Amino acid sequence: MYPKLVVDLKKLQGNLDAVAEITKDRGGCSLMIVTKGLCADPEMAGLVARDPKVDYMADSRVKNLASYADMARANGKKTVLLRIPMHDEVEGVIQYADISFNSELSTIRLLNEEAGRAGKVHDIVLMIDLGDLREGIFFRNEDLIREAVEEILQMEHINLYGIAVNLTCYGAIIPKYDNLSQLVEIARKIEEKYDIRLQMVSGGNSSSIYLIDKGELPEGINNLRLGEAFLLGNDTAYETDLPGTVGDTVTLQAQIVELKEKPSLPIGEVGVDAFGQKPYYEDRGIMKRAIIAVGKQDTDLDSMTPTDPQIEIMGGSSDHTILDVTHCDRDYKVGDVVTFELGYGGMLKVATSPYVEREYVRG
Ligand SMILES: *Cc1c(COP(=O)(O)O)cnc(C)c1O
Repeated sequence: MYPKLVVDLKKLQGNLDAVAEITKDRGGCSLMIVTKGLCADPEMAGLVARDPKVDYMADSRVKNLASYADMARANGKKTVLLRIPMHDEVEGVIQYADISFNSELSTIRLLNEEAGRAGKVHDIVLMIDLGDLREGIFFRNEDLIREAVEEILQMEHINLYGIAVNLTCYGAIIPKYDNLSQLVEIARKIEEKYDIRLQMVSGGNSSSIYLIDKGELPEGINNLRLGEAFLLGNDTAYETDLPGTVGDTVTLQAQIVELKEKPSLPIGEVGVDAFGQKPYYEDRGIMKRAIIAVGKQDTDLDSMTPTDPQIEIMGGSSDHTILDVTHCDRDYKVGDVVTFELGYGGMLKVATSPYVEREYVRG
């Protein structure tokens, strides 16, 4: 059935081998694989869980962690919640995450209480914001960092596992030797002042991996958290392909439901489209237009590329996508299937849509 997300497990394994070699063998870091980009797809999660090179399995959603926590733990991996937890979800966090990333003392207090009730000690990683301005205690507020660390160290059921930074997500700030060195410096200060050892100093996501082969990952960063680098083979700092990886691990297939020759300019007064946008049209004369049965409810039209380079995506609405097939050598027919490579946003939406079927390539 279409639309269909085709997940190539062999290619994913190849990407995992490649990022593990860079991160662990060449970078000396532990490897945290982030599963949210593919909504913790169970086959992908199984592949990650079984791989001895992976140290941690992480996601931003408790629900995704819940789906594979048993399997991850049975294979010796710790589960990690990446998004700062809601007060509302502390019970699930304690149950399914061995480690959670945090920046709010009020939440950490609730985690402490819940861990106590569950008879556990919960590991937390304190997020430090080095300027990207998403989550974390701002690095210049040393008083706030000290205050948080001191209270956490008093908590009976919380262990301060480490500190971490996230970059290139909101402010699009690129990780460099200089800003990551500040994270290491903060870690060393905490360790000296309180005479403790932080197990994790996590230097970022897929935008940090490029630093390893440049020899610019600061000594002391001992973990990277990789989602897109693993799933799509991307270094997200400079948008290059990581050596040894491929970008077509997942593809979207959709079926043509209508194929007609029509003008390129709509007829009548132009209002707004289904999403309240005023469309822009270019007069290209009579066109051969194919409609495929997939739309903005299932995918991101700006984050998918037809594997037939002669196809152009014209636009779409919730359930329809219109393709210009005028210049295609292939003589498309109704019922034919069109394949797209996906970017991160497209992959995320396609994997989230309950209307898209899934198929696995096992090689
Ligand atoms: C999503 C996320 C990651 C993984 O990001 P990629 O760019 O896919 O590698 C890492 N850390 C945090 C905190 C995240 O939210």
